Amino acid sequence: MDNTSAQKLQDLHYFGEFGGVNPSISDSSTYTFLSAKTMFDTFEGNTEGCYLYSRHSSPSNLYLGEALAALEGTETANVYASGMGAISAVIMQLCNGGDHIVSSRTIYGGTYALLKNFLPKFSITTAFVDITDLENVEKNISENTKMIYCEAVSNPLLEIADIRALSQLAKKYNIPLVVDNTFSPLSISAAQLGADIVIHSLTKFINGASDCVAGAVCASTDFCLSLKDVNDGAGMLFGSTLDSLRAASILKNMRTLHIRIKKHSENTLYLARKFQEDGLKVAYPGLASHSGHQIMAGQMNPEYGFGGLMTIDVGTLDQANALMELMQKENLGYLAVSLGFYKTLFSAPGTSTSSEIPLEEQEEMGLTDGLIRFSIGLDNTIETTYQKMKKCMGQLGILGPKTAQMA
Ligand SMILES: *Cc1c(COP(=O)(O)O)cnc(C)c1O
Repeated sequence: MDNTSAQKLQDLHYFGEFGGVNPSISDSSTYTFLSAKTMFDTFEGNTEGCYLYSRHSSPSNLYLGEALAALEGTETANVYASGMGAISAVIMQLCNGGDHIVSSRTIYGGTYALLKNFLPKFSITTAFVDITDLENVEKNISENTKMIYCEAVSNPLLEIADIRALSQLAKKYNIPLVVDNTFSPLSISAAQLGADIVIHSLTKFINGASDCVAGAVCASTDFCLSLKDVNDGAGMLFGSTLDSLRAASILKNMRTLHIRIKKHSENTLYLARKFQEDGLKVAYPGLASHSGHQIMAGQMNPEYGFGGLMTIDVGTLDQANALMELMQKENLGYLAVSLGFYKTLFSAPGTSTSSEIPLEEQEEMGLTDGLIRFSIGLDNTIETTYQKMKKCMGQLGILGPKTAQMA
């Protein structure tokens, strides 16, 4: 399974119009037709391979879409201007007023805000559940439930969704399982495990350069076409279209994804083990102590490891902030949201990326004040990184006695 995705990506080839080894970038918003009849047919959705207008599709976006379909092993994929653009298109396509969603409660803050605050405007309501409690997930499914929504590895708590089991449940009720796989590209082949629709924020690992925002929906040809439908497609009508220039640059970065993911995972596992041995409260799916370890081990492609995200709870928000500022000063990474960069990025999710979630709910789901989320970088000598991080923690009294670690 793992080999297929990475190898399929490697095997893709498309040439530029002059035989360039990269496809030409489509630098046009609109396209000519040789006959008026073909233009009409294209509006009717009947003409394959004809381009109409770049909000609908463009050659560069289709190339990137093909690569994403190869990544997830789906029939096809659409690309969007952001991860949220992809998520909102999927939800608006699947739900009508009065419909209902069963969603994991530990999801990206923006998705949570969309479901909790925005969609009720259209009478679309959501039950937020502990996604690891399948019985409870099932209990919340009602007649008007239109999807089960979750993240394969959740943000920021790194809960692991049992995609096979959730997919069976979704099938039983004849509703789609929608999985946001942003945290675990290549590591988890969500569609192969039974997800019907797989969403990515390309902004993170897939692009890996922290230079743009973009998103994708990997799914069946039928569903992807429905999103683009000129009459009632949410992607087409809300207009969160990715620019061709960006699509081309993301495609080029995607070619090293398999190498980067392995390194992110290797470095993160190293640090997670070390800091756990040092007695810190570390959460990483690669540790046997993690509640989702077994499920992740049973559904991952082992060669890509357990991913590049881990959290450490350092006790209080003040300690977390002091540590992040010190680590930044010591050039261990950046105090910044987002993930999947070559440098380590760290943030306190309770006051940043998950601040949309009310405090009581944060507490209930285990999102504590002192939690730091790390997206571990591609550091070549991770042991040195570990020593430097440890020294920072020592200086702040997070690890061992204050004085012992002073240098
Ligand atoms: C960042 C992120 C999103 C949103 O993606 P954007 O590209 O910022 O719109 C959605 N889901 C997860 C898990 C994310 O990390």
